[in-house]
Amino acid sequence: MVGMLQALGERTSRLPLVGAGHSRRRTGLLIAVAAAFPLLVPNNYVLAICVEASLYIMLASGMEIVVGYTGLIDLGYIAFYAIGAYSSALLATHYGISFWLLLPVGAILAGLAGALLGFPVLRMRADYLAVVTLGFGEIIRLSVRNLDWLTGGPNGVVGVPAANFFGIDLVEPMQQYYLVLPATVLILIAVARLGNSRLGRAWMCIRDNEIAAEAVGINLVTTKLLAFGLGATCAGLAGVMFAAILSVVTPDSFSVWESVTVLIIVLIGGSGRLPGVFVGVAAMIVLPEALRGLQDYRFIVFGIVLIGMMIYRPQGLWPNKVRRYARGGGAADHLGGRGATRVTRPGAATGPLLQVRNLTKHFGGLAAVDDLDFVIEAGRVTALIGPNGAGKSTVFNLITGFTRPDRGEILFKGRPIHHWRPSRIVDAGIARTFQSIRLFGTMSVIENVMAGCHSRSRASVLGIVFRTPRQQAEERAIIANSFRQLEFVGLGNLAYTEAKNLSYGDQRRLEIARALATQPELLILDEPAAGMNDRERLDLTQLIRQIVDLGITVLLVEHTMPLIMGLADQIVVLNYGRRIAQGAPETIRNDSEVIEAYLGVEDDSLSA
Ligand code: ADP
Ligand code: MG
Repeated sequence: MVGMLQALGERTSRLPLVGAGHSRRRTGLLIAVAAAFPLLVPNNYVLAICVEASLYIMLASGMEIVVGYTGLIDLGYIAFYAIGAYSSALLATHYGISFWLLLPVGAILAGLAGALLGFPVLRMRADYLAVVTLGFGEIIRLSVRNLDWLTGGPNGVVGVPAANFFGIDLVEPMQQYYLVLPATVLILIAVARLGNSRLGRAWMCIRDNEIAAEAVGINLVTTKLLAFGLGATCAGLAGVMFAAILSVVTPDSFSVWESVTVLIIVLIGGSGRLPGVFVGVAAMIVLPEALRGLQDYRFIVFGIVLIGMMIYRPQGLWPNKVRRYARGGGAADHLGGRGATRVTRPGAATGPLLQVRNLTKHFGGLAAVDDLDFVIEAGRVTALIGPNGAGKSTVFNLITGFTRPDRGEILFKGRPIHHWRPSRIVDAGIARTFQSIRLFGTMSVIENVMAGCHSRSRASVLGIVFRTPRQQAEERAIIANSFRQLEFVGLGNLAYTEAKNLSYGDQRRLEIARALATQPELLILDEPAAGMNDRERLDLTQLIRQIVDLGITVLLVEHTMPLIMGLADQIVVLNYGRRIAQGAPETIRNDSEVIEAYLGVEDDSLSA
């Protein structure tokens, strides 16, 4: 017993979140109050409202994944509730299948439907997404309404058996309360854990900046499908409960208004803030009941409250708290792939790290990159220079998979990578920053770097939900590694600042820290000194030297000549997409074609 307590204490003290023990106790207290509630308030009417509210909390938790975490709009969400409710109602009435078996069945069916809907809508912009999901919801509702032979049409399925618990039919509000309470608690815990994991961070990255998300190795397709699928799973579970509690399922319960209600619940609480669903449900479900006495006026009151919120607190009512992480205690070897910072390069001796051959990319009639060749040796610094519009950023986009070449090939360690998606290229060991800074603006500085560890971590949905020791160890390693990277670039004291509030210079350094967190062998920097003052440029030069010392190969675009001359081993000069010169800095400085095309024109940049 004492041993168990000690083990528990030790586990708590090693939780990756600061204050996790405290919030655990608070959660425990809340659950205890919720469990005792029916004994304190044995009122059937109140308990029935609690049951209804619980169903909405489950629904809103799932919607939180899709809308709150991932930033996708889903106006057809209630269809998954319908799928859970109808599939279980039909299987229970026709085949007498037990409620307990129907729970996973309904959840899985809804989850699959969610992933299925996800496929065609993955690449849609928000406005189209709203319309298409709205249409999907209506298709499901009209289908169940019109497939009379299967679903009973407008009359629905009646006489759905109640959940049976060791011979007792759970039909009383108090019994149903104790049926939905554990399910609600479990869903809330699961969604909260998902939110605070590599997967949850990946969702938020997608919400904040899709392109940057790809650049840290997040696979947009699978990650978004998981969001749709898991969100729908929650709705499916709630649907099975709904059918067993109401004992009748009709199409009218699944109108668009229901999707909108759940959406408003999420928005009132604060999108992406899970505890906010309590506030949302209180406002949307409990408050209208409480105002029932005012019957005719309640929608007016309700409308005024909503409008007031839009004006005074559009970000939602629940406060946004920055998550704090316990640094230290993480061993880097829990992150897959290579060691935490120092790169070991197996097989680096055999041939160049990167080869670009006959690379060509047209935009309309314009050849942005034209039959380009160059080679990068491991451990060296290569600078790509040339006037604005020469095609430098396009070359970077081609190497990192954001643009497909028309012709030519790119070999990384001998393997062709030009048809790979960006996330796979990150996995292989190429990381980048952007000319126009792309951070995850609403996430904290440390979380931006943690997102960079995505491709080097493995935890699965189940590992996250059940908090397996491996997942916990990996999470600690991510935190420790991220703090190390932050300190390496000199941002250790700004870990809990929102990324978008940093100065330009710091934002650029954060982008570098995030790229380093992916443990690259080749680091590609697109104008890293842009917007920096002289002092910051000096620091940056120093930083790049340190990165090279770690054994990381660097490819960069820069306009500041002293910076390039001091850093680069090799310079490749582009003009109109073509390579006009290549060689050591001294050679390039004296090349007449280069001077004419670039250096001579921008005299000031030479002396800057
Ligand atoms: P650099 O980074 O050297 O300043 P870029 O690679 O950004 O140059 O651009 C090279 C040329 O390709 C420019 O003329 C630019 O307008 C064009 N270009 C770049 N990206 C696109 C795009 N996505 N669509 C159309 N034209 C593009
Ligand atoms: Mg550019």
